[in-house]
Amino acid sequence: MTSQVLDLAGAGIGPFNLSLAAQLDSIPTLSVRFFEKRRSFSWHPGMMLPGAEMQTSILKDLVTATNPTSPWSFLSYLVTHKRFYQFLNAEYEAVPRKEFADYLGWVAQGLTSLRFGTSMRDVQVDDGLFSVAVDGGHVHARNLCVGVGKIPVRPTWAENLPKSLSFHSSEAALRLGDLKARRVAVIGGGQSGAEIVDALMGLDAVSSVHWLSRRPNFEPLDATPFTNELFTPGYMERFHGLPENLRLTHTRRQVLASDGVSPATLKKLYRRLYERKFDAPDGTDRGISLRPYRDVIAATSNGPEIELTMRNGFDNSVETIDVDLVVFATGYRFVLPDFLQALQNRIALNSIGEPILESDFSVVWDGPGENRIFVLNAGRHSHGIAEPQLSLAAWRSAVIANALLGRAHFDLGQLDPIVQWESQDSTLRIPAHMGQAAE
Ligand SMILES: Cc1cc2nc3c(=O)[nH]c(=O)nc-3n(C[C@H](O)[C@H](O)[C@H](O)COP(=O)(O)OP(=O)(O)OC[C@H]3O[C@@H](n4cnc5c(N)ncnc54)[C@H](O)[C@@H]3O)c2cc1C
Repeated sequence: MTSQVLDLAGAGIGPFNLSLAAQLDSIPTLSVRFFEKRRSFSWHPGMMLPGAEMQTSILKDLVTATNPTSPWSFLSYLVTHKRFYQFLNAEYEAVPRKEFADYLGWVAQGLTSLRFGTSMRDVQVDDGLFSVAVDGGHVHARNLCVGVGKIPVRPTWAENLPKSLSFHSSEAALRLGDLKARRVAVIGGGQSGAEIVDALMGLDAVSSVHWLSRRPNFEPLDATPFTNELFTPGYMERFHGLPENLRLTHTRRQVLASDGVSPATLKKLYRRLYERKFDAPDGTDRGISLRPYRDVIAATSNGPEIELTMRNGFDNSVETIDVDLVVFATGYRFVLPDFLQALQNRIALNSIGEPILESDFSVVWDGPGENRIFVLNAGRHSHGIAEPQLSLAAWRSAVIANALLGRAHFDLGQLDPIVQWESQDSTLRIPAHMGQAAE
């Protein structure tokens, strides 16, 4: 590995650091390198299920929002692969996830700043630089960008369940192939849960699927225009300026704007259920049981069987079911990666243990101001629900590029929001102890 000092070393090459690498590709004066532990680019391979679709427009790709002439846009990918006209003719409401993943892989193959098969192992501060240990050597860098994604979350009651009788949705594509279980419970009413239920219904080995969700119903992603205003730079900037208690409250209320099920997926599932019912000799489909408003509170494994106990919020009762396998579609959370252990105590955390992020996505820490640690996919509560999504990835990368350069290389100027979110005089803010606006 060279002894050259990099302007930026990046950890992880998922879509977010890939976007940054693609934006920085247009700035040859910056020396940057990104390290990825996988041998080649792969986007959530465990959830690449047949028929899976994107939840965002292809114009919200790695670069276009702030750099529409970049060679690394989705449109450029289509033209290069000679699919431009056919892609338009296909009139997708939602683009297949495998095509977007192929686009990401194409960008990853084209950028020279990426190193695959190389984990970031350790970071120390050394004489005004970060000294970064990676597989096979060391690099020195003035700034870091952590883009390592999130880790799968399981409920606490599930910690002792044998791995052979349960798995997280992040492994679904790998585990569904040789599934032996007859009765399967899927826990989680978001997009991943819906896609896994859909996949399970097509498997001969499976005799019954139970879909359990804490939410009162199987609820759609809200992608209507005013909700989509939450996914604009103007909203993100205003949100970041709010006090933490308001940001946490708003994020909770906005959950269906980011974590609901795509209406197209819900419609497809509903029609499938309708057809199964229609085909059943007595009009009853015993192969599927849909149970929203269920809060699973315990799991007991009895040999090869698991008993799940849940509260039903609809009629305030308690139910149990027996299954052979539990699939957790229960989401992901951000944790500071192990390679930052030496700096952990120097990074400021918010009330829920997440790093506090400046508006330019760098952490607040007690190190030199010119050595920034940018962190991606950790800003749901600092920048809003759009931060963990692709929606503003190209814009965020441009913000970081400008911060690295100390000048406005990318034009970040945006039109004012259509909605007037803030009061004209926000100095008249109601003190926290006097309560918040009604829901
Ligand atoms: C199934 C699924 C579908 C999604 N679909 C959409 C969508 O349609 N639209 C949308 O807006 N958002 C979507 N999201 C949300 C978000 O866009 C994705 O999670 C996205 O992959 C986040 O990108 P990332 O780069 O932060 O993390 P990841 O994609 O998780 O990439 C992180 C990378 O870092 C690597 N890594 C980890 N540690 C190290 C280390 N120490 N050294 C080197 N490399 C390391 C990992 O191997 C991995 O490749 C989806 C999320 C999921 C789970």
